[in-house]
Amino acid sequence: MDFAFTPEQSELQQRVRRLAEEKIAPIAEEADESPTVHAGLMAILANNGLFQYCVPKEYGGVGVRVMDLCIIREELARVSVQADTNFIMQGLGSYPITLGGTDEQKTKYLPPIARGESIAAFALTEPHAGSDVLSMKTEAHLDGDDWVLNGEKKFISQAGDASTYTVFAKTDPGEGSRSLSVFIVEAGTAGFDDSKRMDLMAAHPIGEPRWNDCHVPQENLIGERGRGLRLALGTLDTFRTTVAAAAIGMGQAAFEASLEYAKNREMFGQNLSDFQATQFKLADMAVSLDAARLLAHRAAWLKDSGQESIIKEASFAKLFGTEAASRIINEAVQIHGGAGLEKGNRVERLYREVRALTIYEGTSEIQRQTIARQLLRD
Ligand SMILES: Cc1cc2nc3c(=O)[nH]c(=O)nc-3n(C[C@H](O)[C@H](O)[C@H](O)COP(=O)(O)OP(=O)(O)OC[C@H]3O[C@@H](n4cnc5c(N)ncnc54)[C@H](O)[C@@H]3O)c2cc1C
Repeated sequence: MDFAFTPEQSELQQRVRRLAEEKIAPIAEEADESPTVHAGLMAILANNGLFQYCVPKEYGGVGVRVMDLCIIREELARVSVQADTNFIMQGLGSYPITLGGTDEQKTKYLPPIARGESIAAFALTEPHAGSDVLSMKTEAHLDGDDWVLNGEKKFISQAGDASTYTVFAKTDPGEGSRSLSVFIVEAGTAGFDDSKRMDLMAAHPIGEPRWNDCHVPQENLIGERGRGLRLALGTLDTFRTTVAAAAIGMGQAAFEASLEYAKNREMFGQNLSDFQATQFKLADMAVSLDAARLLAHRAAWLKDSGQESIIKEASFAKLFGTEAASRIINEAVQIHGGAGLEKGNRVERLYREVRALTIYEGTSEIQRQTIARQLLRD
């Protein structure tokens, strides 16, 4: 195993860090409180070619490599969670097409996503089907040359702003793991309503799209009928590790803010950082960040080296990274005392923003279940 960054990866890290600090940081507070996709951020990400990392080379991208995605997510999330969301959704939303789409589908939909002209969304979760994906109720049936979709989704990032949705629906009830299929649905299609937004504890562009006798042509089916679950799991196998990277970026921001605050906050005739209790907190934060980074980079390295499935390693990384970031940010608020609760304080925003990460793309409980199943099977 070799976790050393290649010269290209080091260059990417430095380039994204500079971009985040110089161009994104000045608008981060406003952008992160925006409940819709932030046009200014999208333009910065697009103009600097970052969406190309979400799309294969042959279709206008530079290729999808998990380590690159981890590097970009960590640097973006360190400064702006909205930038991280806007970036990664282009990959998550389009990856079922990358994995299972026809050449025509890839040629039509992927290049505009790589340029940031088209916004992507991944529509799997429903009001009564989150962890238990197969209990979804959205269904699709054939009517002549069209597939007709009916149903509703919930917690769909970028819904309302997206132009290209990959939508999972039941086509073969009773067929278990082969009951789902996935379709491309364009915003504006008759019978498709993506106007309903959701309001979360930390602003996030997210909504509840629904389909009411929505006709899409047969050629919008991605891959084979009944292979939707396989495409969903294949997509998550690539992107789950990157959630850990986003968490690490947020944890890193909280750690840096805590270090700075502790060194400057005077009390009892010395600085907060002079107390051993504070020093131990900072030490624990730094160790957790490093351990989380190593787990994420191992999973990324294995995937990019061609290991077919990294299900266990990705779950290790996602579980540990998101829970470590949650602990670090909680501790960062503690170090800041009352100041950490003030609106506008960086750690206050992080405290609200990090909460989603142990929930989306498989909750911590689901990660533990996945790991335990692998251990028992092995
Ligand atoms: C900010 C945000 C963005 C999101 N973006 C998207 C998106 O773009 N696309 C999309 O499709 N979805 C998205 N989601 C949805 C997300 O993937 C789901 O919230 C997640 O899968 C959990 O589903 P649920 O909320 O229905 O919770 P549930 O599945 O109802 O879980 C409730 C609780 O039960 C626990 N639980 C579940 N199974 C077990 C078990 N076997 N044993 C013990 N406990 C269990 C869970 O861990 C959780 O604690 C997003 C969610 C959030 C918060």
